[in-house]
Amino acid sequence: MAVSIYWIRRDLRLADNPALTAAADNGQSVLPVYIHAPDEAGAWANGEASNWWLHHSLSALAQSLADHGLPLVIRRGESLATLDALIEETGATAVHWNRLYDPALIRRDKAIKAQLKHRGLAVHSHNAALLHEPWTIQTGTGGDYKAFTPFWRACRKLADPEPPLPVPALKAPEHAGTISSLKPEDLGLLPRIRWDAGLAANWQPGEAGAWQRLGDFLPKTLGAYEPGRDFPAEPGTSRLSPHLHFGEISPRQIWQAVQQQLAQGGDEATTTSIETFLSEIGWREFAHHVLYHHPDFPDAPLNPRFADFPWQEDADGQLLAAWQQGRTGIPLVDAGMRELYATGWMHNRVRMVVGSFLVKNLRLPWQAGEAWFWDTLVDADLAANSLGWQWVAGSGADAAPYFRIFNPVRQSERFDPEGEYIARWVPELAGLAVKHRHAPWEAPASVLADAGVTLGIDYPHPMVDLKASRQAALAAFEQIKKT
Ligand SMILES: Cc1cc2nc3c(=O)[nH]c(=O)nc-3n(C[C@H](O)[C@H](O)[C@H](O)COP(=O)(O)OP(=O)(O)OC[C@H]3O[C@@H](n4cnc5c(N)ncnc54)[C@H](O)[C@@H]3O)c2cc1C
Repeated sequence: MAVSIYWIRRDLRLADNPALTAAADNGQSVLPVYIHAPDEAGAWANGEASNWWLHHSLSALAQSLADHGLPLVIRRGESLATLDALIEETGATAVHWNRLYDPALIRRDKAIKAQLKHRGLAVHSHNAALLHEPWTIQTGTGGDYKAFTPFWRACRKLADPEPPLPVPALKAPEHAGTISSLKPEDLGLLPRIRWDAGLAANWQPGEAGAWQRLGDFLPKTLGAYEPGRDFPAEPGTSRLSPHLHFGEISPRQIWQAVQQQLAQGGDEATTTSIETFLSEIGWREFAHHVLYHHPDFPDAPLNPRFADFPWQEDADGQLLAAWQQGRTGIPLVDAGMRELYATGWMHNRVRMVVGSFLVKNLRLPWQAGEAWFWDTLVDADLAANSLGWQWVAGSGADAAPYFRIFNPVRQSERFDPEGEYIARWVPELAGLAVKHRHAPWEAPASVLADAGVTLGIDYPHPMVDLKASRQAALAAFEQIKKT
């Protein structure tokens, strides 16, 4: 019986999996293989939080495959050489995988496809991660989109995505049990300094965890997504981002589940919420579109003027460290940075605020923030992270204009009006009355004393003056505008 290799990458699920379905087609036996080759991602190998996720997601996938009678073969080493060895061992005649869109991985996969085809293998790649692959959406003149709204309009004009695929009937190759494999724990993916307790408390990596999240979100939260999604103290968003990134659930599956909810009817507010949520899935598509057309997007500003931006000196790294550790003295910023470190995730509104503070008030390069997010986010995604940071910096596609500088105190008053989010993550300020939590340095000395807060001891003084740093950022921006 012919054997097909299913090469697993960031598609850690069984349902709606085109490569797995094609590998199992015509009753072929399937060998699922995960190859650990971090160097092949170049500078963008997984950060620590992503590796933590991967460890647990691989374990969950191994269990699901075992429930279907299939082993998960895990190997470490160069991808092509590892595939070659497995082809030799099993006599496999076909290799299937789902496509990835990180520039270094596109290059690798193209080269591997050519080599395997040359050796006479049937090699097929499939789309499992996107509603519309980056090259399928084009402007009227055949170019790529630089702005989200027309991009999404073009996507919405197309037919709805195909219905998701069921889990195929799966059959293991003969002697599958004799094929050697590592275990997830052999890959050394868990952090050496065990900072991951908060990750484990907040997340369940794997396909079942993804469906659990969607199942919670659809009936409870989706209908009030607008405006609930803007309030970081509330569970107002889906938290599906790491599950989507690792391919534990597909956008097509989410799309279908949301359409079913829409078909049940609802008032105008519910319909608006659903459309807004779908457009966020659209932002994910847009991020992939931009990255595909601009492979240096993670490293270089899309608007080349920003290459000459006069960033602030931070020779000893103290400014960056204060931001990373959530001790800037600006409560909403600190709350966000601490949420990130503790849980591997941060609310989108707060991502925008902490980003703006880093790039505009501290005037540190957006790439420094991007790198920290890359290491600490469980949803770290090359396309979405680059888009987010270039948006914040004002240098990217459909970016916030540079002169729009978030005031973190106003943002806090508006989107955390009860100061709950601040109290949760900056507990040293929880004793302050709500109105003083947003800017404790403005509170009268007696109020601070009554709450047991001494600025500079219990909680830092603000590390910059928000108004003066805003002016300095605008002046720096004026400089590059002239270039
Ligand atoms: C500076 C910065 C960095 C970011 N880095 C990442 C990242 O590394 N990975 C990541 O997935 N998102 C990133 N985002 C986008 C966004 O913050 C997260 O996708 C969102 O907070 C995830 O939470 P959720 O799943 O509850 O989102 P929901 O609001 O429930 O949205 C549903 C899904 O839509 C997608 N999505 C939503 N907003 C965006 C967006 N602006 N861009 C791209 N996709 C989006 C995500 O896949 C998300 O899971 C970043 C945003 C900023 C401002």
